[in-house]
Amino acid sequence: MKLIEATREEIRGKIGLMPIGSIEQHGPHLPLGTDGIIAEWIAQRVEEKFRDKVLLYPTLYYGCSKEHYGFPHLSIGYINMFNFLMDIVTTSKNAGVSSLVIVNGHGGNESVLDLVRRETNMNGDKCFKVHVFSMVGRDRELFNVIDMHAGSAETSRIYAINKELVRKENLESVDDYTVNEGVFKTIPISEANKYGIINIGGKVEIDEDKGRKSLEKAVDELSILVSKIIEELKKCNNRA
Ligand SMILES: [Zn+2]
Repeated sequence: MKLIEATREEIRGKIGLMPIGSIEQHGPHLPLGTDGIIAEWIAQRVEEKFRDKVLLYPTLYYGCSKEHYGFPHLSIGYINMFNFLMDIVTTSKNAGVSSLVIVNGHGGNESVLDLVRRETNMNGDKCFKVHVFSMVGRDRELFNVIDMHAGSAETSRIYAINKELVRKENLESVDDYTVNEGVFKTIPISEANKYGIINIGGKVEIDEDKGRKSLEKAVDELSILVSKIIEELKKCNNRA
């Protein structure tokens, strides 16, 4: 069920699923909220499969997007994001939520999510855990490129979710997919190339079938993770 529609009794013992994304430029052809739209779509499908076990949290569309300096982005600093997420984690636990799965659609959030996971999970609590399910870097074989940002994988996934969100015609002017060295490490995307797309290995191909396959595979894998957590919690509660 959805967190915001649940009563205080109904949230107890359920696993939280929180989609998180970013508000940042995604080339000339994709919406700013691409990462959150994808994460939310996947989390919603999983919530439908585990309605009595899972709580779908409101999507956190804002994320850490500092690497988009020079291009439009609405971003949260790493320290603020860490504190914000730790507050959500702590109060979720206090409210009786059994564990939290963060469904992440954005590479720039990964380092903070790793810290939130470590800070929470290394404290000796045997039951409540933070898990991170990430869409970052997935399905390279399926798309035959390394889509690091707004490339074939993200474009095809968004196309499979809602065709109208992809401004196909804006891709026609993109004629250079080279990427300067150091992107995400020593230089922001705006210094890597002028288009704001990092699709290593070729041009952006829009393939609805592949997009759907990629999304469905993620739903299956996240479902397996949720099933495992349910089993772990049973064991953990017996032990307690
Ligand atoms: Zn993205």
